[in-house]
Amino acid sequence: MSTIHTPDTLEEALGLLDKLEDTMVYGGGTAIQILIKQGILFTDHFIDIGAIPGLRDITPTPDGVTVGPLVSLRQMERDTRIVSASALAASTYAKVANPRVRNTASVGGNIAHGDYRLDPPTALMVLDATVQLSSIRGTRDVYAREFFVDFQVTEVQPDEMITGIHIPRQPADAAGAFVKYSSLAENDWPCASAAVLAVPGEFTELRIGLGALAPTTRYVAFDIEPDMSDQDVIDAALDIASTAIDPIEDIRGGVAYKARLGRVAVEDGVRAVMKELNHV
Ligand SMILES: Cc1cc2nc3c(=O)[nH]c(=O)nc-3n(C[C@H](O)[C@H](O)[C@H](O)COP(=O)(O)OP(=O)(O)OC[C@H]3O[C@@H](n4cnc5c(N)ncnc54)[C@H](O)[C@@H]3O)c2cc1C
Repeated sequence: MSTIHTPDTLEEALGLLDKLEDTMVYGGGTAIQILIKQGILFTDHFIDIGAIPGLRDITPTPDGVTVGPLVSLRQMERDTRIVSASALAASTYAKVANPRVRNTASVGGNIAHGDYRLDPPTALMVLDATVQLSSIRGTRDVYAREFFVDFQVTEVQPDEMITGIHIPRQPADAAGAFVKYSSLAENDWPCASAAVLAVPGEFTELRIGLGALAPTTRYVAFDIEPDMSDQDVIDAALDIASTAIDPIEDIRGGVAYKARLGRVAVEDGVRAVMKELNHV
């Protein structure tokens, strides 16, 4: 039997995380409830952070937007402060599951879940987003690119919780696309996904986040040389993505099928951003 704690302040929550063994932060509960029903999640203590002020805030900053961990995926999809900071982030959150899940699930719980198939991490990686982790030891910011360590392993330590995610503003001249392919139903978990962002500069940087294609979310990037044709860019993207694609078999597909679909997702994403760049 688990004990549910309902701290009123962040300090109280961090104190509980420090003091108690075998604790889990309770966000939206969509993942936790399923794992409990499946009989595979046992923990002594849940820390329900729902009463702590400020954790649902969406705060525009000079360089982007910072969101509290309890902001829902549905808000990420629809809130104008998110949409104006990053169309790619908003459109990626819009592709998670269905409205019922998106209304309940939180941004903090989503990334802390650490599942290799999650959609939002692919976009957070290419957008240079950072995750704020807090404990009684202090606060640290971790790049989304470094947050996902291995299969079901993230940077969150047992005494830490996610207290915010910062998404830098998507450059106005950047082009982004999120492509997701599911094999069982349209709004099911993906068997391959790719977020692609082209960021013009001295050289245009092409960034790719890969979902469901390895034991954890993966990131690759390269500079587009001025003399590269669109097909050259697609070929280079497929080459570099291939170094990161290392699928695990699950009910949504075998290794070869997912690897093939991953290449299709990358190609479709790169085609979409090149088309957008060429029309600016
Ligand atoms: C039917 C269904 C379909 C789905 N399809 C998709 C999909 O297509 N794409 C996709 O990306 N996701 C999908 N999901 C997963 C969904 O995105 C996650 O269940 C959800 O994002 C988890 O968020 P939550 O707030 O409910 O987390 P919770 O269930 O509350 O927690 C999940 C984990 O995160 C930890 N946690 C929660 N908040 C914090 C915090 N602030 N700090 C530290 N740790 C924390 C918990 O301790 C737990 O380990 C699907 C889920 C369901 C139920």
